Amino acid sequence: MLLGETSAFAVLLTLLVVGFVGFFVVVVGSVIRAVTCAFRTLGRAFFGAGHPDPGVPVNTLVGCPNTRCGYLNPPQARYCARCGSRLRG
Ligand SMILES: [Zn+2]
Repeated sequence: MLLGETSAFAVLLTLLVVGFVGFFVVVVGSVIRAVTCAFRTLGRAFFGAGHPDPGVPVNTLVGCPNTRCGYLNPPQARYCARCGSRLRG
């Protein structure tokens, strides 16, 4: 049964190679992720806090003057998005 043994060996070898390739893909991926994270952390340490998250910063939001509402509206808003109160003159 030389042919059967050869094909079984080929299947085993294929599984082994596929396993190794998958293993290396996972290892390289996690190494790249770790290096990227480390560089980001280093950059943040050297160049300050870095760019804030995109979107409106919380400290520029306009609080609704209606004390029962208090909804935080975007800075360009003229009226409260929740209760409709006028935010500024
Ligand atoms: Zn409101």
